[in-house]
Amino acid sequence: MPMKALRPCREPGCSGYAMPGSSWCAKHRREQERGRRAGQSPLYDTARWRRERALFLRAHPLCEECRRQGRIRAASQVDHIRPHEGDPGLFWDQANWQALCVACHSRKTAAEDGGFGHARRRREEDPARREAVGRELSPRG
Ligand SMILES: [Zn+2]
Ligand SMILES: [Zn+2]
Repeated sequence: MPMKALRPCREPGCSGYAMPGSSWCAKHRREQERGRRAGQSPLYDTARWRRERALFLRAHPLCEECRRQGRIRAASQVDHIRPHEGDPGLFWDQANWQALCVACHSRKTAAEDGGFGHARRRREEDPARREAVGRELSPRG
């Protein structure tokens, strides 16, 4: 197989070559992919998190948000009640953890990130925002 000219890795200061179909070497491509996951903390990438998360879900098998609304749904995510923003104290504090189902977790994450697509429920609760949305939809602007 003829070798194409290798491109250097896009990471400044890296002497490696880009992987085929990528702008980064194997190492930096992994870092790029990791960083792209919604700006997640590297704390999620630890064996300790995986272990404690699994234990927590075993102890809290049901979605807490659904339970508050009188629904029974299996939890599959551990959510930080107060966003930890990379703070290890908040991150590891299980008093700050709650078990959520995928739907509740993504809704909460979207609301925290200010994502509009998933925050419909919030919008209904907030009259000011509903008004703003109404203006957006109005042709008179
Ligand atoms: Zn590199
Ligand atoms: Zn739920």
